[in-house]
Amino acid sequence: MIAKASVRDYLSFSAIRTYQGCPLRYKFKYIDGIPEDRVSSTLIFGCAIHAALEHYFHQFMAGEPQLPNVPELMDVYQQNWSTEKTILFGSKESRASMDQLAEKMLRNFLASDLSTPTERIVGIEEDIRGELLPGIPDILGRIDLLLESTDVVIRDLKTSRTSWDEDQASESAEQLLLYAELVKEMFPGRTIRLQFAVITKHVDPRIQLVETPWDQHRLQRTKQIVKSVWQSIQGGNFYPNPSPIGCSSCCYRPQCMAWNGT
Ligand code: SF4
Repeated sequence: MIAKASVRDYLSFSAIRTYQGCPLRYKFKYIDGIPEDRVSSTLIFGCAIHAALEHYFHQFMAGEPQLPNVPELMDVYQQNWSTEKTILFGSKESRASMDQLAEKMLRNFLASDLSTPTERIVGIEEDIRGELLPGIPDILGRIDLLLESTDVVIRDLKTSRTSWDEDQASESAEQLLLYAELVKEMFPGRTIRLQFAVITKHVDPRIQLVETPWDQHRLQRTKQIVKSVWQSIQGGNFYPNPSPIGCSSCCYRPQCMAWNGT
C-alpha cells in the first residue's frame, strides 16, 4: 500500500522522531492532519521558556543598552502559555509551580555566561531547509542560536529535569548533526561546533553548556535513519507502537483504538 501523499513537502526532525516513536501517531498527525487537542505541560513550558530566551537574544543582538530583566522575560513566558488545547499537567505540577520554576530558571540564565555570548550572533530561531539525500523531501529545521567566531556554533537551548553530561549530549546529537550538514554550505571551510545550552528544572536551576563533537559516522548513520523512515512512510507502514510514556501524552487514543489496519 502506498501512503497518501503528505500535504507537506518537507520532513522535520520532530516528524521523524514521531514516526520512530509510533508510526500510527505519525499518520494521524502528519498524513491525516488530525489536530491535537491537548498538549503536555512539559512541552508548553519548554516552548514558553524558549520564547523568553528568543526575546532576550533579539535584544542582545540588537545591542539594546537595557537588556530584558526577569519580569520582562516572564511576560513573554506568560504570553506563550496561551493555547486552546487542553494542557496535561503531571501529578506534582501546577501552573503556579511551573511559573515559579520559570522565574528561577530565567533568573539563573541572566546571571550566567550564557546570557552574554562572546561569539557574534548570526541567527536566532533560524529556519533552515535543504536536501539531505536525493529522493527524500527537504529537511526543515530551526536553529535556536547560530553563532560565529573563528568557528561556527550551532547552539540548541534545552530545558531538562536532569543535568546533562557528554553522554547525554552525544545521544541527542543527531538533530544538530543534520542541521550542521544543512548550514555548512553557508560557511565553506569553517569548523562547525555543536553545543547544548541546558537549563535544568532543579530547585536551584543549573545552567550548562555541553559540547558534542562532530562525528562523520554518526552523521551518515542518521542520514540512513532518515532515509529508512521516509521509505517506510512511503510504503504505508503505519501501526500502533504502544508505550506507557508515548501513549500517556497521545491525543489520538480514540482513533488508535478504532484503527483496523486501513
Ligand atoms: S495511543 Fe499509543 S499506540 Fe496509539 S497512536 Fe497514540 S502513541 Fe501510538
